[in-house]
Amino acid sequence: MQRPAGPIRSCAKIDCTVQLLSRQPIRRQLMVAGVALAVPLLVAVVWTANATRLDQQARVKEQAASVAATAAAQLDSYLSGLDGMASAVARHPDVISGDVANVSRLFADLVRSRPLVTNLMLIAPDGFIRAAAMPLPAGLDRVGWPMIGDVIRTGKPGLTDYATSPTTGRAVVAVTYPVRNERDEPIAVLVIGLDLVRLESVFASVPLPDGSVISVVDRNGVVIARSMEADQYIGVVTESPRLSPGAPPVTSLRMDVDGVERFYGDVAVRQGAWTVSVGIPRDIVPARLRPIWARNLSIMTFTLTAMIVLGLVIAWQTTTQLSRLQSAAQRIAGGDLSPLHRVPTPNREFGELQDTFIQMAAKLREARDALDRQMDQERKMNEMLQSLQRQVVRQERLAAVGLLVSGVAHEVNNPLQGILGTAELLEQEPGLGPQAREEIAFLKTQAGRAREIIRNLSRFSSQQSGPPALLDLNDVIKEVVQLRQRDLDSARVTLDVQVSSHRKVYANFTELEQVMLNFVINAQQAIEGSRAVGRVLIRLLDVGKRVRLEVHDNGPGVKKEDEAKLFQPFFTTKPVGKGTGLGLSVSYGIIEACGGSIGHSENEWGGATFFFELPAAETENDHVNDRPALLHGSV
Ligand code: ADP
Repeated sequence: MQRPAGPIRSCAKIDCTVQLLSRQPIRRQLMVAGVALAVPLLVAVVWTANATRLDQQARVKEQAASVAATAAAQLDSYLSGLDGMASAVARHPDVISGDVANVSRLFADLVRSRPLVTNLMLIAPDGFIRAAAMPLPAGLDRVGWPMIGDVIRTGKPGLTDYATSPTTGRAVVAVTYPVRNERDEPIAVLVIGLDLVRLESVFASVPLPDGSVISVVDRNGVVIARSMEADQYIGVVTESPRLSPGAPPVTSLRMDVDGVERFYGDVAVRQGAWTVSVGIPRDIVPARLRPIWARNLSIMTFTLTAMIVLGLVIAWQTTTQLSRLQSAAQRIAGGDLSPLHRVPTPNREFGELQDTFIQMAAKLREARDALDRQMDQERKMNEMLQSLQRQVVRQERLAAVGLLVSGVAHEVNNPLQGILGTAELLEQEPGLGPQAREEIAFLKTQAGRAREIIRNLSRFSSQQSGPPALLDLNDVIKEVVQLRQRDLDSARVTLDVQVSSHRKVYANFTELEQVMLNFVINAQQAIEGSRAVGRVLIRLLDVGKRVRLEVHDNGPGVKKEDEAKLFQPFFTTKPVGKGTGLGLSVSYGIIEACGGSIGHSENEWGGATFFFELPAAETENDHVNDRPALLHGSV
């Protein structure tokens, strides 16, 4: 019978589902999720880095503009101070009167006290140099500067462009102031020469990053002051923007005259006559960004590492749980429904899945056990049915054989009686020769044997027995010995009898005689086939409340494979004509009817011992209703 495949099929389905779940997509999905998270993170980092860079650039430009404004304010302040000094000098009586000696002395004192001032000159409207702080070169007493005329004409102070000092030969710019008489008419021009190289000291106090530069350019873009390498670059034309007066500070990225790229802040000074440019090297931006980027990179690396570790932990936990469930499903699909052990799970969902699995395995186990029990019952019922069928068939066959046998026995018995009777009559005829007598004896033996077979057959078929009576088994033994002694002697089989019981039994004498005869004849026939000298021992003994009769022989014994069939009707191992296979089955029926038991065993000679036990009768009324039991072998 095939077991239904339902639960197994459902197991296979679960197994498939778990396999589908655990067929690595989780790892791959986690990797994809990791990449999907890492890409925007990287984009954000790059975007932030760029934004930070632009922000830094803007800050640097702002710083440059701010410093430029500060420097311009300082320059303005210095020039204002210079204005104060110039107006005081211009109002000095010696200057107005044109006292050359005193003016020269005054100018010399002023140049000494003002390091940035290289020279002071008092110049007449026609360009004649009336006085100078520094000694004039030989032959120089007049200058042709157009600004002198401008100052006389406008009466306003002025500022020259970059020029070379005629007196010192150094690069200078000059501040011009009108000197007025009592009527407030410009009568001369006070020229103050400024040392451009030293102008850098004005910017010395301005804090700036390394490599930064502050420069002042005139309206033509010529460098007139520089905080770095002034000697080298003063007088050089730059790309500084030309700012109109009052223009707001401008910022830009440009290449400076020294070949360094800088962020510049440009602020107009003195009504746009000069421009102060503050340049901060471009390299300062990456230098400032480096720690910020390093910090951002650390944060990103830490975040990514944490994400990857977290992802791996989740993936490991998930795949571990799934492969556990998968192996459990495979186990169930393979028919192993032993209880699953509950283990800690990383989350509630896996816990519920595990519980469901355990419940499912338990249900399947119950279903299988119920199925096994049902199958076992069905198998037993089948066996019982088959056994009953066999019994019915055998009963029917036996009934048919019995019917047949009783008819045949009846028909054959009469002619046999006739033959026997005739043989006995013939035997009494006088004058018969020994040959004839021998043949008549043979006739009688064979006819007697045939009658015995017929009697057995009819007893087997009818299972009839004579009326039971109290009898001594000793008498039965004596009768049998008397009957068989001659035959046993001629077969050279020694017969011994040991009697230790004198209790009576309640049975039919002829029937017990037949059982015993059957035992003795079987013993003799077994010996005849194997031994030269045989032995048969008949024992009668008490066994508890029973009397036991045993017939031992030293024949070959019963084969193991024959033991189960010994008492079945028609079982014989003897050649055709010698055995009918009815002796033991008839004996079984007789002993059973007397409430006794019959069986066989091996004996110490290696032969067989056949025995029966009957309940011992204490009084004449005793009889036993016990059913017989087969002690060895079966019917
Ligand atoms: P039969 O003697 O006609 O064969 P039985 O019913 O008396 O029929 O005996 C059945 C079989 O039991 C015998 O054929 C024989 O094989 C076996 N058998 C009986 N008695 C003995 C014995 N003493 N030793 C060995 N085999 C025996």
